Amino acid sequence: MADKIKVIVAGPRGKMGRETIATVLDEPRFELVAALDRRHEGKRIGEIAGLPESDAPVYTDIDRCLSDIEADVFVDFTTPEAGRIHTEKAIRYGVRPVVGTSGLSMEDIERFRAMAEEKRLGAIVAPNFAIGAVLMMKFSQMAARYFQDVEIIELHHDQKRDAPSGTAIKTAELIRAVRERKRQGHPEEKELIDGARGADVDGFRIHSVRLPGLIAHQQVLFGSSGELLTIRHDSFDRKSFMSGVRYAIETVMKLETLVYGLENLLE
Ligand code: NAP
Repeated sequence: MADKIKVIVAGPRGKMGRETIATVLDEPRFELVAALDRRHEGKRIGEIAGLPESDAPVYTDIDRCLSDIEADVFVDFTTPEAGRIHTEKAIRYGVRPVVGTSGLSMEDIERFRAMAEEKRLGAIVAPNFAIGAVLMMKFSQMAARYFQDVEIIELHHDQKRDAPSGTAIKTAELIRAVRERKRQGHPEEKELIDGARGADVDGFRIHSVRLPGLIAHQQVLFGSSGELLTIRHDSFDRKSFMSGVRYAIETVMKLETLVYGLENLLE
């Protein structure tokens, strides 16, 4: 049998981190070798309240974690500030990052790509690991070839720190790559309350909704005379992200560069 893929998970007490820990433990081809947390130095993962049984150690210091532990893949679901540091360190230590944390800039991603390529190391940064969301982004790019007028509405739980979401930013980039540039709306349009028209991306808008009860949802609306096309995706449960996380952990082992967006790996 092939060697198991050794995985470190950062942010194990977070909503996505917990789900990832369970996924890694569940998958016979993976081995959970450590967690990077902000607390619980020296404990075992299974000793942290609410986490499943595991003897893998918990670290609070990333350098110690990456030098003590032999690992293949480093999965990060933390915050943009922490994720940026973690990704850079993981590449330096030769551990392939799989980053779900949103809020990294294109400059960060390009810098990590150059670092990964220099080491011929795989890396994946994916704003959304849900397969349905990846398709929603792809379909939106297809539609943008035919519809110039588009607005993105992304809806998330109210504990989300960044806006717009990484998925909305990625969708906007995909649309921008094919859409003929146009400033939408009335040329003399005026916002009576700041922000009423949302964030401006090359003349089209992104709107961010934050409400308790939501998980991760997005709709992309394309309008033309006499018709409206709505492409919508809903994640009702964080399990929706886990098939993509599993796929990324396996696929990153075969890469020698950084891939940004799961859609670039799916057929
Ligand atoms: P969350 O519940 O707030 O969890 C974030 C976790 O990161 C917390 O447990 C936090 O610890 C931990 N953390 C912060 N700084 C850290 C550090 N320096 N070292 C180790 N851990 C650290 O958030 P979430 O809902 O899981 O989301 C996490 C990230 O994933 C967000 O950026 C979110 O947008 C993104 N996300 C991505 C996808 C995708 O498919 N790509 C899907 C959902 C969410 P404390 O509790 O001590 O603060």
